[in-house]
Amino acid sequence: MSGNISSEKIDLLIYGPNKPIVDKGFSDQFVLHPFESRADLDRVSPAVAAKIRGAAVTYSTVRCDGAVMAMFPKLEIVASFGVGYDHVDANHAREHNIVVTNTPDVLTEEVADIAMGLLIATVREFIKADRYLRSGLWTTQQYPLSVGSLRDRKVGIVGLGRIGQAVARRLDASLVPVVYHSRNPVAGVKHKHYPDLIEMAKAVDTLVVIVPGGPSTAKMINADVLKALGPRGVVVNVARGSVIDEEALIAALKSGTILAAGLDVFAKEPAVPDELKAMQNVVLLPHIGSASVVTRNAMDQLVVDNLKTWFAGNAPLTPVAETPAKGR
Ligand code: NDP
Repeated sequence: MSGNISSEKIDLLIYGPNKPIVDKGFSDQFVLHPFESRADLDRVSPAVAAKIRGAAVTYSTVRCDGAVMAMFPKLEIVASFGVGYDHVDANHAREHNIVVTNTPDVLTEEVADIAMGLLIATVREFIKADRYLRSGLWTTQQYPLSVGSLRDRKVGIVGLGRIGQAVARRLDASLVPVVYHSRNPVAGVKHKHYPDLIEMAKAVDTLVVIVPGGPSTAKMINADVLKALGPRGVVVNVARGSVIDEEALIAALKSGTILAAGLDVFAKEPAVPDELKAMQNVVLLPHIGSASVVTRNAMDQLVVDNLKTWFAGNAPLTPVAETPAKGR
């Protein structure tokens, strides 16, 4: 991990969708090489590939795996957009002395808002009630009372990191009891920690899932967890689609093993199973956790700032845990 400061031009790969803040964010000292997709990358000339020292990965729809990084022998840093970076092989990067950065913190409150909104929309049936009004039925009879309510619920947060804690604060303000599951207890937190997910699922009736994607969390919300949650159970997933066994979830919703679900993420986005779309007891969002103009702009800016800080000779602002860059 070197990152020399010199008057020479610095060549950057811009990998993924076009982003105005990234395109306009660099001085003349940088030369940008935009490639929108993996297929486009096959057209990078050897001369350009040999010069690339930094990469901006502008969205999680492009994978930056070991094969991609290996195309650029002088690569020092991969600045990825988003706090989740399961589309970037951070272990390969560490082994090859490449720093990876992500964009934490600037999206925390936005995603927590979506989690809380999705929970209330699911439990109090916002979407169903909206359809009811638009269909004209309200003029003939009142909307039926919702079976669900936040008033008699206890929430288990799966992953009490930055976003999980911001969700916990919102639930505290709403006077809803909260406990949590993660591998390690979080210091200074008043909420009860459950090292065992099934034990927590038995003790609550609502799960808000906000762990990272990747192998360690794959399908962790499975049939056993859903059964433990029980027939009043509500699952809200704003983490990654990979974290839930989607088939088990569909079966549990169909059979009444759990009551309802609010989902912002899916196993094979943007494909969403027709069975889920046909259900009345689910609220489905198209992965919009951080997707407001103000927050996405802040995330784009942090991608730019990580690269500029690195090439000014400093430690990157937000390295991921696998590549903890120290001051240089
Ligand atoms: P953090 O790293 O701050 O928190 C992650 C939490 O998950 C920690 O409490 C961690 O605790 C826990 N965790 C990690 N692995 C496991 C595991 N195997 N089993 C149980 N708990 C685990 O991340 P953020 O809160 O900033 O973000 C969380 C995730 O949210 C992101 O990685 C991303 O995938 C998702 N996200 C989704 C968005 C959307 O649009 N829907 C937007 C932004 C983020 P411990 O290590 O002790 O287990």
